Amino acid sequence: MYRTHTCGELRKSDIGKEVTLAGWLQTIRKFGSINFVDLRDRYGITQLLLGEELNKQLDENPLGREFVLQVKGIVTERSNKNANLPTGDIEIKVTSFSILNKSATPPFTIQDDTDGGDDVRMKYRYLDLRRNAVKKNLELRYTVNRAARNYLHENNFMDLETPFLIKSTPEGARDFVVPSRMNAGQFYALPQSPQTFKQLLMVSGYDRYFQIVKCFRDEDLRADRQPEFTQIDCEMSFVEQEDILNMFEGMIKYIFKQVKGIDYTEKVERMSWEDAMWHYGNDKPDIRFGMKICNLKFPSHTFPHQQNISSLINDVNFKVFDDAETVVAIAVPASSEMTRKEIDALTEWVKRPQIGMKGLVYIKYNIDGTLKSSVDKFYHEDKLKKIAEATNANPGDLILILAGAEERTRKAISELRLETGKNKGFRKDDEFKLLWVLDFPLFEYAEDENRWVARHHPFTAPKPDHIEVMINNDPTIADAAEYLKHPYAGIKANAYDMVLNGNEIGGGSIRIFQRGLQEKMFDALGMTKEEALHKFGFLLGAFEYGAPPHGGIAFGFDRLCSILGGSESIRDFIAFPKNNSGRDVMLDAPGTIDEKQLNELSIKLDVQKN
Ligand code: ASP
Repeated sequence: MYRTHTCGELRKSDIGKEVTLAGWLQTIRKFGSINFVDLRDRYGITQLLLGEELNKQLDENPLGREFVLQVKGIVTERSNKNANLPTGDIEIKVTSFSILNKSATPPFTIQDDTDGGDDVRMKYRYLDLRRNAVKKNLELRYTVNRAARNYLHENNFMDLETPFLIKSTPEGARDFVVPSRMNAGQFYALPQSPQTFKQLLMVSGYDRYFQIVKCFRDEDLRADRQPEFTQIDCEMSFVEQEDILNMFEGMIKYIFKQVKGIDYTEKVERMSWEDAMWHYGNDKPDIRFGMKICNLKFPSHTFPHQQNISSLINDVNFKVFDDAETVVAIAVPASSEMTRKEIDALTEWVKRPQIGMKGLVYIKYNIDGTLKSSVDKFYHEDKLKKIAEATNANPGDLILILAGAEERTRKAISELRLETGKNKGFRKDDEFKLLWVLDFPLFEYAEDENRWVARHHPFTAPKPDHIEVMINNDPTIADAAEYLKHPYAGIKANAYDMVLNGNEIGGGSIRIFQRGLQEKMFDALGMTKEEALHKFGFLLGAFEYGAPPHGGIAFGFDRLCSILGGSESIRDFIAFPKNNSGRDVMLDAPGTIDEKQLNELSIKLDVQKN
């Protein structure tokens, strides 16, 4: 037997026992003629005392960091106790030891505050994974996984696997493709998600499905994305939106309880997409704090239901506002004392290319009720006060105003809100606030592709009262349709996102389940009948054989873990992640393949080497 106990297990009550431990040598310290070793395994660290009588053996077989040892000895009370270690009351008086395997000197220290940089840790990820900090993250990941499984199992969901080698039907992101040897010149694609399979499973009658599953998307890796990532993927039959919201609100609350011990008893707030954009400037608002946007000016077609208050800023010949499509403001609480230098720094911040604003207008609403601004030349104090009131500012607040094109300016004020909110300490790591965002637009215009695409995916149903509108080719939301030059521009989707602290952690929709409506949807996306049949004939066919009403959702498992673990990076929660260029630096993948493999695949390369 290699071991009787783990390195995290022994306590005072074990004193006197004869034990065998096995693990890695974390440190060795010499005190006169005796040696102390910290022995580590997955469960903890135990101190070993190697007395004088072992010195001869030690001289012949010197120990080093990360050696794998097996020791036998007696559990004894420590004179110098370590309250920070669960095993800190005891040590093992070693009677014999053997080296099970030696280790080269590791390229970085296996400690929480390691001296290893990112690259070297990724290259030697198997050593990085030995560090407690990383291990804790993977343990949390497993706890989240188990909690999700338990909840779904208790609710009659069935874990069903779906294939990884499928057909390429790029609709959202780019597909990863795999050449088929047996079908020369043909390719499989790796699934971006099991979307169509889970819908087919509904047609087959497996009315509650889930899978914690890898998905693959060949996207440019913007901050903290992985080309392969994991989803908690779910689908249900005979449900309406309300059923799905309740079921999965329940799941996330259950995970909170199991993983963080948090009782999230309140009902998850709900907000329409339009309200999210109006009040927060983005579709995944962080509602841990207020600082809602005040819309001083906006193009009416974007928010047809909102009141126009542009008279507050008009009529003073201030060109910056007059020429802007959109003027938006936020009030930063208790910040009117901000120095010139600090405001200049914020101005530089909004001018960065990622934010893309030309400048920043501010109004200081002083504690004594007076107002001072960077546009005093144009606005009298009473006018400034009216603007301040519109932003819901209190004396002592600082009002920040951005002006420019609608989309960019709204995005910029949203970023500015998050940045200033963070600086004010409003975005606390230990506070968790969930939100459902509902009623997304069904379609959106993809600038880079120059065409209309499904905002969620093409299997998403319109909201029930918009289905007729689509079938009859008779859009009632004429304003948006006319302005945006697409007959369905104003149609809303029966789709929902779950947002946690400003991050989208899940999204899904009620699906189309009739062939006619699905064909209509493909048509609205500019697909010919032939194309639709070629790409999705199997689904259209399945809808002819009694498809039940259904809907589902998928949660980003890696992201959920990183938020629950209080980290910005999903890589910290993946055992073997890829770097920002999609490389696995440990494997050195992707790599070339040899001529023989290429021949078998009937592939000839024509690669411009750079
Ligand atoms: N398959 C969708 C996605 O990956 C989620 C869903 O609609 O269930 O975003």
